[in-house]
Amino acid sequence: MPERPAPLDLDHLPVVDHHCHPWREGDDPFASGSYRMLFTEGDDPRLGEEVPATVYYRWTLRELARVLGCGPGEAEVLAARAALGHGAVEAKLMAEAHVEAAILDDLYAGRGGRRSSVAGMCGRLGGARTYRALRLESVLETLVCLSRDAGEVEDRFRARLDLATLRAEGVVSLKSIVAYRTGLGILPVVREDAYAAFTGLKRDADRDGSVRIADKVFLDYFLRIALGWCGELRFPIQFHTGFGDTDIDPPTARPSALKHVCDDPAFREAPLVLLHAGYPDVRELGYLASVYANVHVDVGLAIPFAATGYETIFREALALAPTTKVLWSSDGFSIPEHTWFAARQGRRALGRVLGELVGDGAIDQAEGVEIATQVLSANSRRLYRLDDAAGPAGRGDA
Ligand SMILES: [Zn+2]
Repeated sequence: MPERPAPLDLDHLPVVDHHCHPWREGDDPFASGSYRMLFTEGDDPRLGEEVPATVYYRWTLRELARVLGCGPGEAEVLAARAALGHGAVEAKLMAEAHVEAAILDDLYAGRGGRRSSVAGMCGRLGGARTYRALRLESVLETLVCLSRDAGEVEDRFRARLDLATLRAEGVVSLKSIVAYRTGLGILPVVREDAYAAFTGLKRDADRDGSVRIADKVFLDYFLRIALGWCGELRFPIQFHTGFGDTDIDPPTARPSALKHVCDDPAFREAPLVLLHAGYPDVRELGYLASVYANVHVDVGLAIPFAATGYETIFREALALAPTTKVLWSSDGFSIPEHTWFAARQGRRALGRVLGELVGDGAIDQAEGVEIATQVLSANSRRLYRLDDAAGPAGRGDA
């Protein structure tokens, strides 16, 4: 067997986590059942029996055992974790993750429990600067509850999209979960049709005190307003694509389903960030990024969850996409493990892929390090203008 080329050593490079969520608060130790359910995107309790048979969970336990100095069995790891306490575990994991900055979606309500604020995550992420991504569906759901008619929703929605206000709140990106609701085929909508949906939504909101909007015409109408605003101001907007929880309808969540948006001249300047690597359609996402100047490729959630595929994900993303448009993230939530594992193993996989390219003579060593820096941090810093944004909490102002 020919020897594999030497990987690039990227362990020391910091990461910008441009797509993640606040972690749980509180000091209760984890029972194995509740801990296991944090390692699946499903919610069927029977999956608790299956999680220990996944490569991601096995590998995480082994890596935790190394850090915590215990055996790799689940019971030993959870006992060592509980003995040390959440804060000390976080500190150990973040010392290996080197998170320099993070963009958090703090309106994610899933997985239960009290969660840290975006400012509170600064310390928990080892002193990372923290910023926000504003989840548009949650904004709309609140506005339906607060407004008397659809016109008022639109007025308030447009007013919410105020650059100075968003910047002051540390918001550096918009975000849409429409892939989890009505799909990425966002089409032009006549205002009256969108407004007609308000009555039903308002009735649900009045009855239940909250509303989950899954009306395609209504969502498409307001997302197109947001996309137009992003285009005017070149403000990034993130879309979930590919795999995720069971709300996803895969054909309407694949990256190419966003093609209407990519092709619309009104949105040509809107920086589009397609999350989750479009997994399993990473190649399709890389293709979009190679033909649409405003499309960016995220590798989060796929790294860390798709545990035997990290190198393939980077290889396929970088096959067509410019290296300036591929961005690392973790999609970490609830616990520090996802963030830490995605940083540590993501860097290693990227180092192996870039090492191969150096071995093939495609790039030299210096370019390899430059590409790694782009993917892990520099592309996000530039795209989200993190160097001019005031984070709600950070090293300088904590
Ligand atoms: Zn996500």
